[in-house]
Amino acid sequence: ETNDTKKMIEAHELLKKFYHHLLINTKEGQEALHYLQTRGISLSAIEQFDIGYSPPAWDVAVKFLKGRGFSLELMEKAGLVIRKEDGNYFDRFRNRIMFPIHNHHGETVAFSGRSIGEGQPKYLNSPETSIFHKGKILYHFHQARLPIRKQQQAVLFEGFADVVSAVQAGVVNAVATMGTALTEEQARILRRNAETVVICYDGDSAGMDAAVRAAELLAQAGCHVKIATIPDGLDPDEYICRNGSESFHRNILESSRSLTAFKLAYLRRGKNLKNENDQIRYIDEALREISRLSSPVERDYYLRQLANEFSLSLAALEQQLERYKKKEH
Ligand code: ATP
Ligand code: MN
Ligand code: MN
Ligand code: MN
Repeated sequence: ETNDTKKMIEAHELLKKFYHHLLINTKEGQEALHYLQTRGISLSAIEQFDIGYSPPAWDVAVKFLKGRGFSLELMEKAGLVIRKEDGNYFDRFRNRIMFPIHNHHGETVAFSGRSIGEGQPKYLNSPETSIFHKGKILYHFHQARLPIRKQQQAVLFEGFADVVSAVQAGVVNAVATMGTALTEEQARILRRNAETVVICYDGDSAGMDAAVRAAELLAQAGCHVKIATIPDGLDPDEYICRNGSESFHRNILESSRSLTAFKLAYLRRGKNLKNENDQIRYIDEALREISRLSSPVERDYYLRQLANEFSLSLAALEQQLERYKKKEH
């Protein structure tokens, strides 16, 4: 570990404490604190996640870091400040709720700042730096690792607020990808620590598409994968706020399904299965999906389900399935 690395991490640690202090103890932080409370984020969650507040001025971090002897040139490499053409520096994060991001050792290596209310962009992240590689880190993994190992299960979310809400609801094995597609590295990290990963992405169509891609990657990595479905296009945080944690456990997490069941449900969307054309289209699409399964037991299971639901002969379905299997090769 070089001296620069140490300094960059130290700067993040100090700034994290400072932003947290501004949120909790100062008048400047009151609006942000109130915003968090209206979102149902408790003081103890604010403490646990070390959430903070960066004021609107251009030089809060600049002054703070300079005053503690950090080189601003290095702080720019750390992603905390930005250099202007005239050579002066200004803060990257202004007037935002600050979510510190920790590496897997628990060191603070980056921030994501959420605008208060509607300001754009909604989340502003630290750039890629020598200490922060977004695709190699899962948000909250440093705290979730032990429960994940104990339960042999991780619950994977898209965003910061989802993890905070989930942890408040008792889902301590919660981690998030911070909005980007799950990477192979992140999949490997999960596989090394758990048998099962429950994907709990947003209930909008972007979230569902991302869930399918994440599930395929995790399955390739050797994980047993389940997908939770959040109704009405809500995201996990919104669901928990509206329906409470008990409902989240029972109706969302415990009702999560296999990738195939999720895909079949997905194929049904927008189809009227009382309509003959839609029915045939669904059966056809479902068969193609089933034909991709490598496990004969799983194939048989979903084939029987299809046969029962539409009163078809298993033989006919099997025949059609064989055709699709050949086409795949
Ligand atoms: P909130 O509940 O605070 O509105 P969210 O997590 O529901 O946030 P989404 O729009 O669902 O927000 O995005 C999911 C995740 O994607 C965010 O938590 C964040 O990590 C990331 N993200 C969203 N918008 C941006 C952005 N403009 N720039 C970078 N990352 C973003
Ligand atoms: Mn505190
Ligand atoms: Mn969301
Ligand atoms: Mn949300």
